[in-house]
Amino acid sequence: MPSIRRFTRPVLAVTVAVAAATVGSAVAITVAAPASQAATCNGYVGLTFDDGPTPGNTQNLLNALRSAGLRATFFDEGQNAAPNPSLVQATASAGMWIGNHSWDHPHMTQLSTAQMNTEIGNTQQTLQQATGAAPKLFRPPYGETNATLKSVEAQYGLTEIIWDVDSQDWNGASTSAIVQANARLTNGQIILMHDWPANTVAAIPQIASGLASRNLCAGMISPSTGRAVAPTGGGNPPPSSPTPTVRPTTPPPTSPPPGGSGCRVTSTVSAWNNGLTNNLTITNTGGSAVTNWRLTFTLPSGQTITSGWSATYSPTSGQVTATNAGYNSTIAPNSSTAIGYQATHTGNAAAPTGFALNGVSCGS
Ligand SMILES: [Zn+2]
Repeated sequence: MPSIRRFTRPVLAVTVAVAAATVGSAVAITVAAPASQAATCNGYVGLTFDDGPTPGNTQNLLNALRSAGLRATFFDEGQNAAPNPSLVQATASAGMWIGNHSWDHPHMTQLSTAQMNTEIGNTQQTLQQATGAAPKLFRPPYGETNATLKSVEAQYGLTEIIWDVDSQDWNGASTSAIVQANARLTNGQIILMHDWPANTVAAIPQIASGLASRNLCAGMISPSTGRAVAPTGGGNPPPSSPTPTVRPTTPPPTSPPPGGSGCRVTSTVSAWNNGLTNNLTITNTGGSAVTNWRLTFTLPSGQTITSGWSATYSPTSGQVTATNAGYNSTIAPNSSTAIGYQATHTGNAAAPTGFALNGVSCGS
């Protein structure tokens, strides 16, 4: 039962009008699921938008996509997502998929393996905290990749996605040129666009009508094949239950500090103007396992933890105690566990000091 009017849905139009009226507010609105287009699709293409979220543009792009009945994949940068979690949530709530585009858009192939890990890992954490789900897709900046990067991606369960068609929107392409680039897409293919050019937002209605005229629909990118396919599973889960969160818990009983114990803690801080993430690695350098651990440290003044992972943090400023999660309560001798948190700061983004594990002072 094909219909050429599948993009015209009155209920959708009303929803978009409401959303448009609330632009600028945080997580403006939870909109209904996009209209299903499966019945009239003879193929799927992957629309992708990189480098966001972008205050002042992402919401416009989301409004344009929703009013056109299109879904897309957004490859977000960690450095943009961290200070704008509400835009990431709005993207997921609009039915879009969210992928990882590194923390700050470096030439990944020029980085060490450890730096690649930091770029990808911190961004995974930030996006997971915003949406409640870890991304499954990674797009390397500039499409530059190599075997080392692929192995790091694999450690995070990420599928690398490049593109078949480059819209050149990053290079000043006109709206009509962006529309023409989309007209070259065939079933399964992926197009590179960006989350900041105004010409791209302006192109969305014509992209939608062009795809519809060819019986193509905007699909999801399959993590297993890397190709555009019919959407399944409703995209990213709603942001109503971000995990993990900071919440005080009843501390478990602690083991006595074992004789000959030792520990080492390293911090990897990624900061932006008023916030930071810190990935901590706790290494048990002693001769016996540490169980039911608590790591204490002192945050620099002006820093307040807003969320954390793989431990609970209390209080959120000053002298902080991080208490193990259930699954990492034992650190074997010569083994490590990784935890982390996101925090706000007022100018001092330094790492914490004075680490102690179950009361035993740690080296760094
Ligand atoms: Zn990019």
